[in-house]
Amino acid sequence: MEFEAWWLLIPLGCFALGWFAARVDIRYVLRDARALPSAYFRGLNFLLREQHDRAVESFVDVSRRDPHALDLQLALGSLFRRQGRLGEATGIHQGLVDRHDLAKEKRELALFELAQDFHAAGLFDRAEAVYEQLTGSAYEAEAVTRLASVLEQEKAWDRAIAARERIQRLSGEPQGRYIAQYHCELAELALAAGDRATMQRHLDAAIENNRNVARAPLIAFAAAAKDGDKPAADSALAEVRRTRPELTVLIAADILTLYERDGNAAGAVEQLAAAQHEAPTALGLSRLIDASLKIEGRERAVARLRRELSVQPSAREATRLLELESARLEPAAAQTLAEVAQLLHRATDKTPGFHCGRCGFRAPRYYWKCPGCNEWESFRATPLGQ
Ligand SMILES: [Zn+2]
Repeated sequence: MEFEAWWLLIPLGCFALGWFAARVDIRYVLRDARALPSAYFRGLNFLLREQHDRAVESFVDVSRRDPHALDLQLALGSLFRRQGRLGEATGIHQGLVDRHDLAKEKRELALFELAQDFHAAGLFDRAEAVYEQLTGSAYEAEAVTRLASVLEQEKAWDRAIAARERIQRLSGEPQGRYIAQYHCELAELALAAGDRATMQRHLDAAIENNRNVARAPLIAFAAAAKDGDKPAADSALAEVRRTRPELTVLIAADILTLYERDGNAAGAVEQLAAAQHEAPTALGLSRLIDASLKIEGRERAVARLRRELSVQPSAREATRLLELESARLEPAAAQTLAEVAQLLHRATDKTPGFHCGRCGFRAPRYYWKCPGCNEWESFRATPLGQ
């Protein structure tokens, strides 16, 4: 009887032990769960009191206790960068990079973020060094793309070419149009330095990378015009008109000088007229009428302007017609016409010249890289009538 009673106590003891273990476990979980939010809130509190260094310390502490909080810090870091608070962003990302307990993939992500902080802060040499450290990582292709952008900003064209070639190898995305532009930058430097052989080498490389790069024949034209080499200038001009006829306006003055020097000024007007027919632009018409006035005289210039406006009406260019026509009227009528022209001009006034086809940035001069959106070759001569 005694023996049976003792056995009955065993399940009861097991139950008590289990209950105790469960209590300990629950208490442990609860303590941990309570500890994490308090660290979060402490960090947030420091943030609100603008004690950023202590906030970062708290968040680093949170992430040590809970690996999931790492994402919180990464989000916080990129948020700081987007707000332009680059010191804080760098502090968070550098703190993560310096940790030895991070998984390789997370450390690489932190490095990638840190490089972007340096990039945004204009610390190009440090950004470059960190982007390079990502070689062989999952972020390599993206890091090299951003590295190319840093090298562009530094005008380190040779290294930018190497970076673009790397991107091409890593991602399979063609980079020829960027490489062609970098070679054109180098060709322009060689042209300015009077080194024609280097210029030609870069122009050939530009065309090899992008057969339709209009900038290469524009540079070749500038060099030929400088040397007074009319056959070379003509062949470059033909290539400009094949690739981007509206960009003929960029060399209108040189075309006129070259043809005048050759005793064939009328030929320059014909070149500008042909380019204008291929791609009618406001600036192209303006340059054409300037050249026609100078070479062919007022009557023929007015006739050209009338013809062009009948094909493609443009209120802005119509003011020029009124101004030209007013010259042959008696003073009172001329005065009225001039006033109408002025009113019309004011009503249509916009920055004439060029605009970005991507972001709409307008400018009176041409940019190979848009200052608004940083896109290459997105600038267009504004079409007539716009
Ligand atoms: Zn743009």
